[in-house]
Amino acid sequence: MRVVKVPLGSRSYSILIGAGQLSRLGVECRRLNLGQCCAVISDRNIAPLYARTVQKGLRDAGFEPSLVVVPAGETAKSLRTVQSCYDQLAAHRLERKSFVVALGGGVVGDVAGFVAATYLRGIAFVQVPTTLLAQVDSSVGGKVGVNLKAGKNLVGAFYQPRLVLCDLATLDTLPVREYRAGLAEVIKYGVIRDAKLFTHLERELPKLLKREPKTLADLVARCCQIKAEVVGQDETESGLRAILNFGHTVGHALEAISSYGKYLHGEAIAIGQVAAARLSAARLGLPARDVERIIRLFERAGLPTTVRLGSARARRLFAAMRLDKKVRGGEIKFVLVRKIGRVEFGHCVPEGLIDQVLTEIANPNGCRQ
Ligand code: ADP
Ligand code: ZN
Repeated sequence: MRVVKVPLGSRSYSILIGAGQLSRLGVECRRLNLGQCCAVISDRNIAPLYARTVQKGLRDAGFEPSLVVVPAGETAKSLRTVQSCYDQLAAHRLERKSFVVALGGGVVGDVAGFVAATYLRGIAFVQVPTTLLAQVDSSVGGKVGVNLKAGKNLVGAFYQPRLVLCDLATLDTLPVREYRAGLAEVIKYGVIRDAKLFTHLERELPKLLKREPKTLADLVARCCQIKAEVVGQDETESGLRAILNFGHTVGHALEAISSYGKYLHGEAIAIGQVAAARLSAARLGLPARDVERIIRLFERAGLPTTVRLGSARARRLFAAMRLDKKVRGGEIKFVLVRKIGRVEFGHCVPEGLIDQVLTEIANPNGCRQ
């Protein structure tokens, strides 16, 4: 088992990574000095697969778990779901020392984390991420919350888990499209922080696509290490943490104008990263060869790198980018790449250039519409 520490003073915690670790959850929770009563929050797809093992492990370690099942998918990331969780936590008599276990993908982690952050003004929570995306990204760092009609993640908190346990064996049942979407965040870490990781991905991608356990374990651990390091330096995103948003300005806007239906998050940010790489070529002189390497890696991972965008949709995309939480004083800020492995945040980019790049990714073979 690999262990990665998230260094946040008295709120520091460990990320445990290994195959077949689910049944150890109870034992690991024992070390955390938590109350007996706990709630495992999961979704309708994941609960039938893994809730029994988790509950048994918890019971064997002396805890009294109850199971709360929420609907699957992004639409479940709502205040309605949160309300229903509160009611069930109250019915199960969870108290201040009780804790919440989030068993599932990013949606479950975000909802359950928000519930834990606010129920009784905050009770402990533990993340057990079951998607690649959640294991390398959303379960680490303490961003929790839900969507409003007006946009994604508009209500939330910074609330760190007490422990993250990644069981790589749970990825075996993950649908291939979800798995590939997770690779978009993995590739992101290479681009923003680790050129060696990027080269490693170029070489090991076939093994990774086969979900080869050793390759996967090394990789999830490395991604968590990078995220832990960044969050450890800037927990609440006053600076450095912004680099994790690479590709997300265009990505989030694409998700928003597609009503969160067409693209998975990973797919949208693959396109967003290609857009940001092209902007970087124009603004920071990122070599064309690096742009090509980035595009090629996404393609090989089975992720989209172009988008069909008529002028009406392009206008809506712009409007959505301006609504992004990261916009300050009306200016759209970007994370741009200096070279693979090194990015800079807070770059203002003229709208004309964004427009040009959007046209490029709509027509990758050159001709402008
Ligand atoms: P993300 O982690 O990308 O935010 P979600 O939480 O929406 O994604 O999970 C994506 C989908 O995959 C959901 O329908 C969820 O129920 C399902 N899912 C999550 N983990 C697994 C798994 N290990 N095996 C099978 N299906 C899973
Ligand atoms: Zn993301």
